[in-house]
Amino acid sequence: MHYCKRCVMPDTKPGVLLDDRGLCNACRSQEKKRTVDWQARRIELEAIVDDIKRTNESAYDCLVPVSGGKNSWYQAWMMKEVFGMKVLCCAMAPHLPTKEGIHNLNQMVESVGLDIIKITLKPSTYKKLRKKAFIRQGEPNWPEHMTVFAGVTNVAQIYDIPLIVWGEDVSFEFGGMQTQQEKADASDIDSNDLIKDKTIDDFLDDDVSKRDTFFYRYPNLKLNNGKKIKSIYLGYYDFWEGRKHLELSKSMGFKSREAGPLSGNYIDYDNIDEKLCEINIWLKYIKFGFWRPTDQVCYDIWNNKISRKEAVKIVNHLQDQFPEEYFEDFLRFHDISEDEFWDVVERFRNHDIWSKDQSGKWKLNVSLE
Ligand SMILES: [Zn+2]
Repeated sequence: MHYCKRCVMPDTKPGVLLDDRGLCNACRSQEKKRTVDWQARRIELEAIVDDIKRTNESAYDCLVPVSGGKNSWYQAWMMKEVFGMKVLCCAMAPHLPTKEGIHNLNQMVESVGLDIIKITLKPSTYKKLRKKAFIRQGEPNWPEHMTVFAGVTNVAQIYDIPLIVWGEDVSFEFGGMQTQQEKADASDIDSNDLIKDKTIDDFLDDDVSKRDTFFYRYPNLKLNNGKKIKSIYLGYYDFWEGRKHLELSKSMGFKSREAGPLSGNYIDYDNIDEKLCEINIWLKYIKFGFWRPTDQVCYDIWNNKISRKEAVKIVNHLQDQFPEEYFEDFLRFHDISEDEFWDVVERFRNHDIWSKDQSGKWKLNVSLE
């Protein structure tokens, strides 16, 4: 396990390769981002927008997937206010929302002035799929990721909306398995790093049948008039920076987590809308030796907000915290006992990077310095 020399990302993250300077994929992407002609990219986006505004006969020009978080707030605002499109938002309703999450989504549609469609998945199927994904691949949120990509794209097709505007390309922005080429086209988002090579069919059995999984199936991208739905990453056309999005959303009423950062977090505004994602992220610690604190400080290093030295201190202070806040909710939601939970966790522990110390506590073999 080696850490990037500029940020603190370890090369145990799938797809991450340190170059001969000791820099990770995401650091190389950040260098590329700083050489882009953003003005020219903006003109490319204007051309797409103008074409749709001129030819579209549907009720909406553009569909924006939203959670009420700072990035989706920015995407919806940008497409409506800056580009003057008729925007429809689409949210997958969280099954265990937080009060900040409920406030932020309501506040977003009110202050930006947006129509929104919320999809609530049948709880019985959703719970079964999450539990399966937890036990089989240590990734309880896999069905949720799939259903965001598939659900949103299905809505675009049903309502005949010619454009879907996603946020950032996670592989490019954060470093990962997919190609390091920046790209505008998001039409293969159903096979990105969050999904890999699985489909919902891998989860079908006597318990979950095909008819229960419409919103987990990525459709073809055809509109009724035969044209293709254009699916793009806004991060390709607009310099993507979380803190800028935070400032904008705060000015319109976005609220950070009232009780401060969750365990293992050093910021209080990241993924705060629902209670089921923290365990999913924490499992990366077991598999790859890093989780939230590394993701959050790396982001701030890339954007010159903190030094590597400060980041090392923060990560070492936070990474051994367990996401205890919503642990009970997690167990209850999936009908899993605590013993069963830890049995599953230990099946995914990466013994190349973890060993027990003299007191019997698990420790990473390599310390971050
Ligand atoms: Zn790096």
